Amino acid sequence: MGRYVDAKCRLCRRAGMKLFLKGTRCVTEKCAVAKRPFPPGTISRGGRTPKPTNYALQLREKQKVKQMYGMLERQFKRFFSIANRSKGVTGRRLIQLLEMRLDNVIYRSLFALSRNQARQIVNHGFVLVDGRRVNIPSYTVREGQTIQIKNKDTVKQGIKENIELNTKERSVPTWLQVDNNNFQIKIVRLPEKEDLVIPVDEQLIVELYSK
Ligand code: SF4
Repeated sequence: MGRYVDAKCRLCRRAGMKLFLKGTRCVTEKCAVAKRPFPPGTISRGGRTPKPTNYALQLREKQKVKQMYGMLERQFKRFFSIANRSKGVTGRRLIQLLEMRLDNVIYRSLFALSRNQARQIVNHGFVLVDGRRVNIPSYTVREGQTIQIKNKDTVKQGIKENIELNTKERSVPTWLQVDNNNFQIKIVRLPEKEDLVIPVDEQLIVELYSK
């Protein structure tokens, strides 16, 4: 699958908030949002920032969420269409589907410093879901499932260090039950909007795709 390879910090500056795309760097003073808290291109426009149209707001929100989860347009659209076809409110369902991606679950459990790193852990085949190896980062986990890191000392050592670093900055959401000693995660309930760390206006995304 393709992936975004340009400067990640530009995406945060465009979104006007930290999207935490670079692991530990994001919580240091080196963070570009802290150093240059204005959108890219502002200086060359002489400091002017035009008032965004409604469409621009919708587009920006979609881009922000898509980039936060490290997805490209095609895959994001596919997630949206699944949410749209499922029972219940589309926006709420979209958030649940995004949060329940396997790579996101690894990240939210503090096992990885970024979603990018979590994706690598999954890609390399170190993750078991209900005892079966799953190496697809976009795999959607279900309520009640158990995720386990494969019995490999080098991987576990790396994850241990990640947990130590991560606990200083963030905590595990309550929809996940994590056993750090056994490198095990249980999905105890469906995630909700209130469980997100970065605010998302999912309604803007629904409006954008409904055009
Ligand atoms: Fe860069 Fe991370 Fe800061 Fe975003 S949050 S600007 S990725 S350092």
